Amino acid sequence: MASSNDIRATFLDYFARNGHSVVESSPLVPRNDPTLMFTNSGMVQFKNVFTGQERRPYSRAATAQKCVRAGGKHNDLDNVGYTARHHTFFEMLGNFSFGDYFKEQAITHAWTLLTKDFGLPADKLMVTVYHEDEEAAALWRRIAGLPDDRIIRIATSDNFWRMGDTGPCGPCSEIFYDHGPSIPGGPPGSPDEDGDRFIEIWNLVFMQYEEGPPGTRTALPRPSIDTGMGLERFAAILQGKHNNYDTDTLRALILASAEATGRDPDGVEKTSHRVIADHLRSSCFLIADGVLPSNEGRGYVVRRIMRRAMRHAYQMGAAEPLMPRLVPALVRQMGQAYPELTRAQALMTDTLRLEETRFRSLLERGLHLLAEETGKLGEGQVLAGDVAFKLYDTYGFPLDLTQDALREQGRTVDVSGFEEAMAEQRTRARAAWAGSGDAATDRVWFDLKEKVGATEFLGYATESAEGEI
Ligand code: ATP
Ligand code: MG
Ligand code: MG
Ligand code: MG
Repeated sequence: MASSNDIRATFLDYFARNGHSVVESSPLVPRNDPTLMFTNSGMVQFKNVFTGQERRPYSRAATAQKCVRAGGKHNDLDNVGYTARHHTFFEMLGNFSFGDYFKEQAITHAWTLLTKDFGLPADKLMVTVYHEDEEAAALWRRIAGLPDDRIIRIATSDNFWRMGDTGPCGPCSEIFYDHGPSIPGGPPGSPDEDGDRFIEIWNLVFMQYEEGPPGTRTALPRPSIDTGMGLERFAAILQGKHNNYDTDTLRALILASAEATGRDPDGVEKTSHRVIADHLRSSCFLIADGVLPSNEGRGYVVRRIMRRAMRHAYQMGAAEPLMPRLVPALVRQMGQAYPELTRAQALMTDTLRLEETRFRSLLERGLHLLAEETGKLGEGQVLAGDVAFKLYDTYGFPLDLTQDALREQGRTVDVSGFEEAMAEQRTRARAAWAGSGDAATDRVWFDLKEKVGATEFLGYATESAEGEI
C-alpha cells in the first residue's frame, strides 16, 4: 500500500522527471500577502511570479504545499469531522508553469500521472470544464479518451478562477473520482455514506487572461498553469478508503488519541477523534510557523482551533491535557517531510500544554453552564445570544466552539443576539471610561483598548477583510 509519504514523493518525482523544479513548501503565514490570513493553496508563494512582478530561475515548478483553510474565503473548519474530505490543515500537491506549457500539457501530465504512474482506472475518473472552454473539453476527449458524459460543463465561478478583482484569471478543470454507489466503510444510510460519492481530487487552473477594470479582459501572451491536488483525498483513493480520516497519517493520529483517552477510535466518539487529529495538525503546523495562540488575528484562529479540539478531548474524559501527548505521533508521521515539526517539537508541546491546562478549568465551568442552559430549551429552540456571549466573555469559549458543542444536539446559537451582546459590552466599556476630557486622547486609548483588550472579534473581522485568491 502506498503511504502518504510515498505518494508525495512519487508526485514530486514525476514532475521533476518532466523538467519541473521541486520547490519547498512556503510557510503557512504568507510572506508576500498581508491580506491573506494563511497560505491556502500551492499558488500563493508564486503569486508575483504569475503576475510577472517576480522572476525565478525556473519556469516549471512542483510543490507539496502546507495549507490551512480555517478562515476567510476558504473556511473548512465547520466541515471537519463531518465530511469525508475536508481538513483545516492539508497538503496540496501541485505543478506550475510560468508562461511555459499550457492546457494540453497540463492535461496530459495529470492524466498520465493518475492513470499510468498511479494506475487509477480511467473509468473511475470524470472531469469538469468551464462551460465556455471547448478547448479543454476537446483535449480531455482526445488525450484521456473520456466520453462526453464524463466531461461536465459548469457555468459557475467554481470553474473560473480569479486571483483578485483584477489580474490573471482563467477557466479551470477539476478531476473527480467516483467512489462508487456503495462506499467502502459504510453501507448506504450509514454515517459514512454522507453524500461524498464523487470526490474532487485535482483542480487544474488555466491562467489565460489578464483582467483590468470591469469588461477589459485581454489574452495573456504567455498563459500559465496552476494546479492543486489534495494529498489526503488522493491517499484515500490509493489506500482503498473512502474517508480521508482512514488514511495512514490521520489514522495514526486517531489511534494515538484513542489510546491516550482509552476511547474506541470507531465508536460514538469517532467524530471527536477526527476533529482532534485534524486540529492537532493545524495547531502544530501553525505553531511551528510562528503562530502562537492569542486574542486577535491569526493567533485567535489557532486558539479557536486548539480550544475546539480541547473540548472534544475533555468531553471524552481525558484526565490531563491530551493534545501535547499526541505531538510525538505527529512528528513520527510527518517530521521527515516537514523538518520544522521536529525543530519545533518542544514549542508545540509546551504551547499546547499551557493552553489546554489553562482552558480546562474554564471548560469545566463553561460546559456546566451550557448544559444548564440547554436543559431549559424546548425542542428546536436556539441558544440565546447572551448565553453564548457569557461563555465567550467569561469562559473563553470562542463562538464556533459553542456552536460545535451544540451541533451534536442539533441546536444552534442566536448569532445576531451574540453580536448584539458583544456590541453592548463595548458600549458599556466606553461609557465606563471616565476619560481625560480630551476627546482626541480618549480616542487613542479606546482604540488601543479595542486592539489589545476585548477584541477577540478582530479574528473574524480580519477574516472578512481578507483578500481572495
Ligand atoms: P471542495 O469543493 O471539495 O471544497 P475546493 O474546490 O474548495 O474543494 P480547491 O480550491 O480547488 O478545492 O483546491 C484544490 C484541491 O485541494 C482540491 O481539489 C482538493 O483535492 C484539495 N482540498 C481543498 N480543500 C481541502 C480541504 N479542506 N481538505 C483537504 N483537501 C482539500
Ligand atoms: Mg472548498
Ligand atoms: Mg470544489
Ligand atoms: Mg476546486
